[in-house]
Amino acid sequence: MKACLLRTPARIETNPLQFIEVPEPEPAAGDVRVRVHVCGVCRTDLHVIEGELPTRKSPVIPGHQVIGIVEDSGTGAKRFATGARVGIAWLHKTDGTCEYCKRGQENLCDAPEFTGYSVNGGFAESVVAPESFVYPVPEGFPDEQAAPLLCAGIIGYRCLRMAEVGENAKLGFYGFGAAAHVAIQVALYWGAQVFASTRDARHQRLAMELGAKWAGGTLDAPPEKLDAAIVFAPAGEIVPAALKALRKGGRLILGGIHMSPIPSFGYDLLYQERTIRSVTNNTRMDGEEFLNLAARIPIRTRVQVYPLSEANRALNALKNDAIPGAAVLRVGA
Ligand SMILES: [Zn+2]
Ligand SMILES: [Zn+2]
Repeated sequence: MKACLLRTPARIETNPLQFIEVPEPEPAAGDVRVRVHVCGVCRTDLHVIEGELPTRKSPVIPGHQVIGIVEDSGTGAKRFATGARVGIAWLHKTDGTCEYCKRGQENLCDAPEFTGYSVNGGFAESVVAPESFVYPVPEGFPDEQAAPLLCAGIIGYRCLRMAEVGENAKLGFYGFGAAAHVAIQVALYWGAQVFASTRDARHQRLAMELGAKWAGGTLDAPPEKLDAAIVFAPAGEIVPAALKALRKGGRLILGGIHMSPIPSFGYDLLYQERTIRSVTNNTRMDGEEFLNLAARIPIRTRVQVYPLSEANRALNALKNDAIPGAAVLRVGA
């Protein structure tokens, strides 16, 4: 099969993904093999490719927002019929036995496996995954539009829940890429007001088009005090600026898997019961809840589609803020 393989982490400007022929994976017991139609491109893929996350598997096929159809099932895998449309997300597998898994916090599992990072992912014509970590995909979403729901969407949803967004809440977004352009639709559905801080003018325009009350530069002060804010951009210098924008008791949620160092700041920015909390992975329940909600709202994603062979180009565009919405690789069918 064709795949985009990363042999050694390197800056994306050097086009480190090799579009080559590799052996097709075989589903082990409990696995399904999915014929990939599309795979979304996420900032986490960029962190893996550029080596900002420590290498877990080498070489590796990145990609963790797969939409495709089940084409083969390993021994004992009976959940999906051949031909069923499914999604594969970041969480490939958990051990199911550590104290976090037992407590219902599988997103914090001590021994997790991740799609496109510790196991091969979806920048390929097919991929295998345990059937219990695969999602049925609601009808009504074309493949391209569904792909960004699987990471950008699910992680954004977990961030929104941590932010405790209610009716009339004033919510700040820092960075307005794939996750934020989905999360704003959920936040507005819940009756919140969204204030978008982002460096790129195109992203500011997209925020306003999607219903933000205000959009400005990353470090500009929003016109009103915020009940909560979510930082999607991987830039630590945003943290003090976002704390400054919060009202007393406000909540700051950090949505990324990687962030540049956070500069020191005075205690007064945190005092008065402001909180900072990171979001780490997601549980399968988050995924199922979000996909149902996405169908109900319904979420409309904006995607820019590239062929699989041009994954490097898509990732370069992502790094340069050149994608309004989400990038998606078209693989097959
Ligand atoms: Zn565990
Ligand atoms: Zn992701």
